[in-house]
Amino acid sequence: MNGSQTLIKALEKNGVEYIFGLPGGAIISIFDALVETTIKLIMVRHEQGATHMADGYARASGKPGVVLVTSGPGATNAVTGIMTAQIDSVPMVVICGQTSTSNLGLDAFQETDIFGITMPVVKHNYLVNDPDDIPRIVSEAFYIASTGRPGVVLIEIPKDVSCCECHINENAKLDVEIPGYRLPPPPDEKKVKNLAKLILESKKPLLLIGHGAIISGAQDEIKTLAETLQSPVVNTLLGKGGFPETHPLSLGMAGMHGSYYANYALMNCDMILSIGSRWNDRVNGDSKNFCPNAKKLHIDIDPAEINKIVFPDGFCIADAKAVVRDLIPQLKTLDTNDWLNDLRVQRENHPLMPAEGGLNAACVIQEFFKLSKGKAIVATDVGQHQMWAAQFFLIDEKNTWLSSGGAGTMGYGFPAAIGAQLACPEKTVIAFVGDGGFQMTFAELATAANNKLPIKIVILDNKYLGMVRQWQQIFFDNRLSGVELDGNPDFVKIGEAYGIKGFHLKERKDVESILSQALQYKEGPCLIHAEVLRQENVFPMIPAGRSAHHIMMEEP
Ligand code: FAD
Repeated sequence: MNGSQTLIKALEKNGVEYIFGLPGGAIISIFDALVETTIKLIMVRHEQGATHMADGYARASGKPGVVLVTSGPGATNAVTGIMTAQIDSVPMVVICGQTSTSNLGLDAFQETDIFGITMPVVKHNYLVNDPDDIPRIVSEAFYIASTGRPGVVLIEIPKDVSCCECHINENAKLDVEIPGYRLPPPPDEKKVKNLAKLILESKKPLLLIGHGAIISGAQDEIKTLAETLQSPVVNTLLGKGGFPETHPLSLGMAGMHGSYYANYALMNCDMILSIGSRWNDRVNGDSKNFCPNAKKLHIDIDPAEINKIVFPDGFCIADAKAVVRDLIPQLKTLDTNDWLNDLRVQRENHPLMPAEGGLNAACVIQEFFKLSKGKAIVATDVGQHQMWAAQFFLIDEKNTWLSSGGAGTMGYGFPAAIGAQLACPEKTVIAFVGDGGFQMTFAELATAANNKLPIKIVILDNKYLGMVRQWQQIFFDNRLSGVELDGNPDFVKIGEAYGIKGFHLKERKDVESILSQALQYKEGPCLIHAEVLRQENVFPMIPAGRSAHHIMMEEP
């Protein structure tokens, strides 16, 4: 076998079912080897699309997504998606071609130092020099990508390495042993005991559920924890699904565009326990005034996150599920009646609801939530619609909310939905996208159509880069610059050009009937072009760098 055939065998052994990719000169031999495998190639239209599809596949399935691209521009086109996955701790293995080893450093055709370029945005990367190393490197790559804090591993394979003959026993058993790579130990008993002590001292507890809780599969334990303590729960944008948002103890998303009552809970709790969240600046804009009266407790698998932004009163570095499991027997129900009543009043006085009037994005999203009974995988793009989706599409189950949180990558939502639908063919997948972000990756309509994926693509078209416009209005004296999307096409016609069914949605009275039709349509993708009110802004909003005291409930 040559290096390429060895690679494909190694991918098969690691359980890969899909590869998202686009060929080119330096990777042609690996595409040749793909002809003889059961792994399905999902051929994309742009490498960024491949990375977001692999990311969506990984978030929906919990398994690493796999990308295959060529060298030079193929590899650099993948960098945005690599960075998007890495910052959100998504497991992914990206294989890219490279010029032959004898040409390295000679500015050869489609040569670029992708190893160097990706160094800051991957968990690990490899440049393969010997085809005999391929099976070991592939096994290590999957291991590194999916263990500990998950992330992206890049494998760069020069053309001569993929083409030349291997001299290894492909059936030899491989034990992964990586010097210097250590998984976190089980929870430290003393640390857990200290957490329990601080929790039991609390009268106004609050659990902050982050993405790490979902990655660790700790949903059941967290539900038991919240119910045992009778503690309210808030989640981050990426923690949606870590605790059911329809549960009576849930206050939904906290932070910049979280509900008033979730942020009120942050400001007034006397103890906050973060489970797998990294206290980032969209949740904690002002560290000095964050949860001012609270003891802060932190559970995270990554030691680098402890004492990074918040200096906790107690912490435990370990897998979230293991820590919560050890904590529960040491706890008892707290007297939180007054605290829960206070929060109930805040919720009644400041409910989250879509604005009245014409067709707005929030009412489309809320109607989809009602009609699907929340039983869907939701992928979002980035911007205003993303925040409305976070507010109005409540998520109860893990791995059903896909959103680019840390990178805020426009163009993410639609390809991520493709990956998710491939991972979960039996589930309803809805992609909420803005008109700006959709136009960055909408060439993947061909990929969705070719694979007959019944994704509901909902384009919330306000003919603006709405979130930037919102900031310009509020913080830059309404001096609009570079945000008007004049010349947006009729997206239904674009869909039709790919053979995709489409619906125009222009009036609020038609929302229910059109969304019902879309939900029933199963023959392939369908697209809803919703022409929503142009000037709406997302509230609540906490200005960047400020604490929740400065929350804005409406236009200033
Ligand atoms: P991640 O960033 O994914 O961090 C996960 C943490 O879990 C990491 O520290 C990791 O080490 C840890 N971890 C991983 N695996 C495990 C494990 N097995 N056990 C324990 N720990 C583990 N976010 C909000 O919350 N509110 C907002 O209002 C908000 N507004 C936004 C607006 C826009 C336009 C955009 C683009 C994003 C916004 N975000 C918002 C998202 C925000 O930028 C962050 O991406 C998000 O808050 C991060 O959530 P997280 O810390 O839960 O997840």
